[in-house]
Amino acid sequence: IDRCNLTILHEPDQAGLDGFLAENQVEIVASLPCYLEENVNRQRGKGVFDGSIRALRQLNDVGYGTDPKLQLNLVYNPQGPVLPPPQAALEADYRRILLDQYGIRFNRLLALANLPIQRFGSTLLSHGKFDGYVALLKSSHQDDNLEQVMCRSLVSVDWQGYLYDCDFNQMLGLGLQARDIERPHLSDLRTLSLEGNGIVVGDHCYGCTAGQGSSCGGALRDD
Ligand code: SF4
Repeated sequence: IDRCNLTILHEPDQAGLDGFLAENQVEIVASLPCYLEENVNRQRGKGVFDGSIRALRQLNDVGYGTDPKLQLNLVYNPQGPVLPPPQAALEADYRRILLDQYGIRFNRLLALANLPIQRFGSTLLSHGKFDGYVALLKSSHQDDNLEQVMCRSLVSVDWQGYLYDCDFNQMLGLGLQARDIERPHLSDLRTLSLEGNGIVVGDHCYGCTAGQGSSCGGALRDD
């Protein structure tokens, strides 16, 4: 998977990236926070919407979004301290508007909740909205999502090979914990089974379990 910044496709030293990704059948996951130009430019900067649309057309031209082997998935995150709207309805809106107005096709829209960490967490703190957002996540928790949270089936690996239950825990420096191993490493997986291993959790985890649920594959449930 390439977590692709769409506008990077226009950088002179990235010429040919679209063809390279297509040739190697790399799945693309790209952020497009809205289908409205005004909203995207307000959030990401002047010209970003236009650059993103041109990049999506470029990807469509090499087969992304139409060839089943070339998956093009878009990501939506709410910009404020709210939960994402139902993924299926939002995906239908994106599909209709992007096709009708720009002739663009894509495979799936992933509607992800923001976890109250890192830059988003700092922004909430500076606006005095951190506690309110965490309270919203907690009050929206759904037990049904616990079965499917991504940390139950995936691990995250940092550049040095150390293991984390997910990339959020990695960002927070919360390493995976395993009995008898101080700091589990990728190489330990040759002998270490993670079956039944505990997961390191915190308040940020409510971002995965609130509402329709959230993971690297989008919503956990159709609401
Ligand atoms: S943030 Fe918590 S619930 Fe979400 S994937 Fe990571 S460990 Fe699991």
